[in-house]
Amino acid sequence: MNNKFKAILAGIFICMFSIMTTLEAQNMKKEGLNAKQQNIVTIAAFTAKGDLQKLKTALSEGLDAGLTVSEIKEILVQLYAYTGFPRSLNGIDAFMNVLKEREQKGIKDKPGKEPSPMPANKNNIELGTEIQTRLAGKPVTGAIYAFSPVIDQFLKGHLFGDIFGRDNLDFQSREIATISALSSMQGVNSQLQAHFNIGFNTGLTEAQMKSLISVLEVRVGRGEADNAHSVLSKALGQQIKGGYPMNTLSESAIFPKGEKIPEQYSKYFVGTAYLNMLVARDNEFNCPIGNVTFEPRARNNWHKHPGGQILLATGGRGYYQEEGKPARELHPGDVVKIAPNVKHWHGAAPDSWFVHLSIETNVQAGSPEWLEPVTDEEYNKLK
Ligand code: MN
Repeated sequence: MNNKFKAILAGIFICMFSIMTTLEAQNMKKEGLNAKQQNIVTIAAFTAKGDLQKLKTALSEGLDAGLTVSEIKEILVQLYAYTGFPRSLNGIDAFMNVLKEREQKGIKDKPGKEPSPMPANKNNIELGTEIQTRLAGKPVTGAIYAFSPVIDQFLKGHLFGDIFGRDNLDFQSREIATISALSSMQGVNSQLQAHFNIGFNTGLTEAQMKSLISVLEVRVGRGEADNAHSVLSKALGQQIKGGYPMNTLSESAIFPKGEKIPEQYSKYFVGTAYLNMLVARDNEFNCPIGNVTFEPRARNNWHKHPGGQILLATGGRGYYQEEGKPARELHPGDVVKIAPNVKHWHGAAPDSWFVHLSIETNVQAGSPEWLEPVTDEEYNKLK
């Protein structure tokens, strides 16, 4: 095979590979819950409702989908903190019976792993405070805990230390269980909203939350799904660290947020962003200035500007990252100078809207070169 032919083949291969990875990334961001996670939804919902007949079916289907005995037991144990001992104990009893019936049918269920011993160098309050802070995205305080310090101790030490500290069930599964249980109970919408946000902090995506709600709709009940959907909308708009919710963002922002980014550019974004061109892309000034607003988790693909770019952060919390360097956290007042042809991306933090002005410099050098998306895997690593 001659070298020229080899080079053409390699080119075709690289091209196909990049098309495949782009498609994979697009599928990933739209992907809902997997089969195991869907069964956590039904197990938690029917435990919370005390519907033991449907719970037994859900438990059996969960085992068939690959959940281990240890994982399911842990879900039912954790649920005592959210649904009370009676529901939890009834759930564990139903699970014992399901396992017995399956054993009689000759089905061998996977036992799964036992939790590792708790860390020896910290007590349950220290461990629980760490886990709670990580999941909530900030230290948890409030008037209710000042009024009743003992409930704060129980939450931190027992729920987040003793229970969440057990590593036989991951945090995403724990949050799927909690959200599904709270969605199936009456009068707990403020806790449900908090747990949607905690779920996002564990890396669950909007698509996965919507998939959770469709499982509720199909398997549990229309009312439960409708309520969960309206609470999810509030959680999506909430900005924990920036301090203003979605519907007041345009009032708090300096420049009007404008319209959703047009299709010709939105294909280079993950999530939803808005663009308001303050200075048009024309020959009069040769200096286009746009106000860009990113919804929580929204970000642009990796890209390069042949003439460079300056970002002025004006609202919320976001990130700027250059290839091969750690991401820089951005707050209002920050200035980012991006040299020509440096590969980078910018966008919002997971729990916050982000607004920046984009000033394109030396525009005669050419239009931006758009590259691959920032995958959920890369994005979820950011603090
Ligand atoms: Mn840029």
